[in-house]
Amino acid sequence: MDMKKYIEEAEEALLHTYNRFQIIWDKGDGVYLYDLEGKKYLDFAAGIAVFALGYNNSAYNDALKAQIDKILHTSNLYYNIPAIEAAKGLKKVSGMDRVFFTNSGAEANEGAIKAARKYAYTKDGSTDHEIIAMNHSFHGRTMGALAVTGTSKYREPFEPLIGNIKFADLNDFDSVAALVNEKTCAIMLEPVQGEGGMVPATEEFLKKVRALCDEKDILLIFDEVQCGMGRTGYMFAWQKYGVKPDIMTSAKALGCGVPVGAFLMTEKVAEKSLVPGDHGTTYGGNPFATAAIQKVLDLFEEQHIIEHVREITPYLEDKLDRLVEQYDCVLERRGTGLMQGLVLECPVGEVTQKALEKGLVIISAGGNVLRMVPPLIITREHVDEMIAVLEEIFKTY
Ligand SMILES: *Cc1c(COP(=O)(O)O)cnc(C)c1O
Repeated sequence: MDMKKYIEEAEEALLHTYNRFQIIWDKGDGVYLYDLEGKKYLDFAAGIAVFALGYNNSAYNDALKAQIDKILHTSNLYYNIPAIEAAKGLKKVSGMDRVFFTNSGAEANEGAIKAARKYAYTKDGSTDHEIIAMNHSFHGRTMGALAVTGTSKYREPFEPLIGNIKFADLNDFDSVAALVNEKTCAIMLEPVQGEGGMVPATEEFLKKVRALCDEKDILLIFDEVQCGMGRTGYMFAWQKYGVKPDIMTSAKALGCGVPVGAFLMTEKVAEKSLVPGDHGTTYGGNPFATAAIQKVLDLFEEQHIIEHVREITPYLEDKLDRLVEQYDCVLERRGTGLMQGLVLECPVGEVTQKALEKGLVIISAGGNVLRMVPPLIITREHVDEMIAVLEEIFKTY
């Protein structure tokens, strides 16, 4: 059956929650994807910042195959070795103290919100605590994660969500401070906003928010689901600023294709937070999922992924800055590391579609931004190939 026919079948069977590109992916290799008709594409989306190690990485695949042959699932009523190793590895790279594994980014954020509320509840016994989140933030589609997502059109049809959430502006410390009161239990933000348009927090902002949290014993929650796992040239984006959160969440590249997430906290939070009976998951931390995390962490080290990101970033940034200089329809470059955006004047939806036709997979983010979140293993040649396609498109505007 041909691709078009399959897509028709998809539209009859799947709930229509996405306006999908008219492509069915068949396989991937390194930083290239192949559609069902065998056409080859350079991938600068990585399944939305997921496939950090590239497709069909044999060491990663072999680790998963070996785990399948041992055991796939045990439940959290027992221990399993991959989960222990993955938790130890995550503690080591994050400097956090305790890990809870989830199945997605949204779920990780749900857990982070529960942990923060429980911490405040343990301290004063009241149940009306508030969380301050950021405008244009994105934390996921479940009810709690949606409640702290700073785009009202995503939230409105589903209200009432969890209550007592207020929104401030990223990089505007006064807007945050103005919302703080004795009920505030947490401030939650992405160190680099992804869906919101590839906007990094400033070091000054993060340091001031950290100091405010310390002063008032408010928990600082960082959502590292997209910006974490090496993408900014640091394992977690906050490490670049030296501003450590009390709770952080991870997902996306954490599993490099296997659906996983995690929330982590410091011992200070853990002591007053979730205890047996407070939180759980059937699948979270299962040996298959955590074998993926364990292998991803190993490969990051063995393949010097973070060093590579630092090495390639100036090259990419320079090429993107030149696009801003050369083409009127490219207004601004935003972002850091291999998490870059170009703010466009021309419609970003048209650009992503034309790119696909020319064999480049690239996606958009909020605010007419062309988003680049490639596998972290891209080389200069791949950057050149991507830039050449964009130039062909930009010169038509
Ligand atoms: C993708 C994303 C999420 C949601 O993750 P899911 O795995 O889709 O639930 C949460 N936060 C950020 C910053 C994200 O980019």
